Amino acid sequence: MADKLARSQDIDGELFDYIIIGEYPRSGLGGSSAMNVLAYTEPVHEEMDMLEALGNPGWNWETFQKYAKKAEGFRTPCPREIDGGFRDLYNSDSVGHSGPLTLSFAPTGTGADAAFQQSLAKNGLSVLADAAPGRFYQPLTQIRAVVWMLQRPNLKVLTEAYVCRILTEGRGENVVARGVEFKHGGRMQKVFAAREIILILKLRDVLSRAIKSPQILELSGIGDKEILEPLGINAVIDLPAVGGNLQEHYVCRSPYMRMKEGKGLISGHMLTDERAAVDVKEMHKLSIDYTVVMNAFAFTPLQTVTDRVPQIIAKKKAQLTSNWATYSPGLRKQFELMLKLLESDKGADIEYLISATAFRPVPEPHKPHMGITSNLTHPWSRGAIRTPPFSDLIDLELTPGSAVDVTTDEKLKEFIGRNIATTWHTCGTCSMMPKDLGGVVDPELRVYGTKNMRVVDLSVLPLMVAVHTQAIVYGIAEQGEHFMTISSRTRRADAIMAF
Ligand SMILES: Cc1cc2nc3c(=O)[nH]c(=O)nc-3n(C[C@H](O)[C@H](O)[C@H](O)COP(=O)(O)OP(=O)(O)OC[C@H]3O[C@@H](n4cnc5c(N)ncnc54)[C@H](O)[C@@H]3O)c2cc1C
Repeated sequence: MADKLARSQDIDGELFDYIIIGEYPRSGLGGSSAMNVLAYTEPVHEEMDMLEALGNPGWNWETFQKYAKKAEGFRTPCPREIDGGFRDLYNSDSVGHSGPLTLSFAPTGTGADAAFQQSLAKNGLSVLADAAPGRFYQPLTQIRAVVWMLQRPNLKVLTEAYVCRILTEGRGENVVARGVEFKHGGRMQKVFAAREIILILKLRDVLSRAIKSPQILELSGIGDKEILEPLGINAVIDLPAVGGNLQEHYVCRSPYMRMKEGKGLISGHMLTDERAAVDVKEMHKLSIDYTVVMNAFAFTPLQTVTDRVPQIIAKKKAQLTSNWATYSPGLRKQFELMLKLLESDKGADIEYLISATAFRPVPEPHKPHMGITSNLTHPWSRGAIRTPPFSDLIDLELTPGSAVDVTTDEKLKEFIGRNIATTWHTCGTCSMMPKDLGGVVDPELRVYGTKNMRVVDLSVLPLMVAVHTQAIVYGIAEQGEHFMTISSRTRRADAIMAF
């Protein structure tokens, strides 16, 4: 596509067809994906179809899978060296094989993954035969998969550049993006585009694009006039929905447990205890180095964890009804869809995963510790972890532990309130929805009111999905690329905020 474009952009007097502007030089291109947990999990069909039902034609499971597969380069997993009983849950036909993002399953687990899975199965959770594509990593080297940038004379990757705003022309419904203003080398710079600007905003801290994309729009004069004008920002498009509709996954990182020694468990203690690392390698007769990865994810509908579903749903409905008048049209539509999913048993309302790395200071650094993380949406049962064989691996439950009373819903609520965290899955702040429902971008990801400005990242996801959000971003990016290709054919200029 680049070859077809006029050489049109300018950095310090040089001209390029594409200029990629990013913030930080060392951590590799890719935003949070350069340092996240590598899990690659796809949403269920029903969740993706909800995007279409929200008023976004062409955004459904079928198109998501088609575009996600373009990014995916699945490799057959090597034989498992630890946790052999833990099945690799995939169907080769569900995954893309020729995309640039290498995906596979790790040959080593924590040593507790199979036990965790068996314990959940004993509590009525079924093991899916085709669950997810796995992790994005290189199976041979076991290191993070990267998508290499092409070395091309018409492409400039500019790192250590902090984007301040998009330079626009016009007002109201006909705004055209002309360029970008950014800080680089200690001074403010501008770059102008005849056709496309791709901002690949890069990793420094955990500054999710869902937080920063609306900020860049607002600094560019696109947002709620009532907020922008008192701050001295000229509102070129009055779009009050910018920055709203924020959603996150909330988790409670407990219980946290000291695990039994001598069971060959791999946890964060291996980093501080060389002897334990050697012992584990010998015990498992490993031919490779182990990795401490999160393997064991369980996504469960409410119906599988409680027999109080009718009461919980009735309570939710009553809450919604009494507040209905206060909700915006977009929120009402979202809640209707969410309620439908909750009532079916098709969605995952709670996720459990075991983590072998410490979420809190390790009381005894040379001993294995693990945590079970669970989604906070609904009460969860501590009984599940007492099921063998996983419970046979636990030495002592540290949190909530016996000293904390969590025997009533009220006490449990209090405990969870003190132990709540997010999972850095923020979305929704530049929601793709009809404008009258509170949308910021249209189904082609174009910011309402602009002729050529798109947002391509997690901020456009209007409704949170149950799974980890990385795979969605790849699907959105591939579908966004499709729109860019079409607009390049029709020779429209685009300013794109991509991941
Ligand atoms: C610690 C962590 C672990 C995670 N683990 C997983 C996982 O295992 N599996 C999974 O599916 N998802 C995971 N996620 C979530 C997943 O990585 C994100 O959903 C996804 O990367 C979001 O993509 P994005 O393009 O929207 O934004 P990001 O990947 O967040 O990229 C945005 C980048 O833009 C930069 N930026 C912001 N403003 C500017 C500016 N003005 N100028 C220049 N640069 C700027 C930021 O520094 C940031 O690096 C994790 C996230 C984190 C933080």
